[in-house]
Amino acid sequence: MNKNLEELLKEQQNIKVIDSSIDYKDYVALDLSATHTDQLDLNLTDAIVFEEFIENHLSNNNAKVAFGGYLETRNLYRRSEVFKNEITDERNIHIGLDLWIKAGTSVLAALDGKIHSFQDNTALGDYGPTIILEHTIENITFYTLYGHLSSESLKGKAVGQIVKKGNLIAFLGAPPINGDYAPHLHFQIIKDLQEKSGDYPGVCSKKEVSFYTNNCTDPNFLLKIE
Ligand SMILES: [Zn+2]
Repeated sequence: MNKNLEELLKEQQNIKVIDSSIDYKDYVALDLSATHTDQLDLNLTDAIVFEEFIENHLSNNNAKVAFGGYLETRNLYRRSEVFKNEITDERNIHIGLDLWIKAGTSVLAALDGKIHSFQDNTALGDYGPTIILEHTIENITFYTLYGHLSSESLKGKAVGQIVKKGNLIAFLGAPPINGDYAPHLHFQIIKDLQEKSGDYPGVCSKKEVSFYTNNCTDPNFLLKIE
């Protein structure tokens, strides 16, 4: 019987998408759900305040990377027009996994593949510079998206360029180039790219969540951060 993508992802070992010298024991979970962040007396729409908050979380936990956010319902997106459909259908459910660490950190190809597309998504609260890789394992084709990169990350890139697992493909961007967030990598797995190029939704509304949960499976099947 053919394997599904989730099974294939679980079989992959030793995957790192940022600085491979940092061991997973130096990662700490970060809860950015609305129910949690509403309790914090912080303006997380301010990138400087947000970055201080992340740095405190890292130092309090003696960690180097904060991670999390898959299927988290957030209220961080309310400042941005990018995420508004209608009032009743707010896009606030995060469908990638975020890795929070300082700007300039190396970003690595998760797996062997090629560059599908890349683009600077410049709206406030959007990804900023973004790269999408295409992978095929055992005849299943899927995509990995790397968002909130630095501008230089897109220089010299070409569609179709071959990448190997672990290759340096980019560096993390700083605000405001990264969409004006505290520096982090948005990493997402996409089954059907729906003919998009250089961009794909990283958050969805409650109405869309079953589609996106299937189409953008849990990145931690691949990363295996504990
Ligand atoms: Zn994200």
